[in-house]
Amino acid sequence: MKIKTHHPEETAHVRSLRKPMTGCSVWPAQRCPAFTVRTVGLVCGSGCWFCRYANFHLREQTPLEVGICCWPEVQSD
Ligand code: SF4
Repeated sequence: MKIKTHHPEETAHVRSLRKPMTGCSVWPAQRCPAFTVRTVGLVCGSGCWFCRYANFHLREQTPLEVGICCWPEVQSD
């Protein structure tokens, strides 16, 4: 998946991942084979932003633009 950004460096962050990035930063449009969509809230996407293993501080007032992959710990259903 490619997303146009203003910064060429960001393009590198929207590629498919070969495995979960446990403990590492993940960008909303990234995705790995372990992707599992949440069952509550926004459940219409297919990138890390919508993955139940990602922590983007979605329950906070200001969500993170770059999240953390917490696989295999479920962060939200
Ligand atoms: S957040 Fe989900 S889709 Fe993204 S790297 Fe981790 S397990 Fe894979």
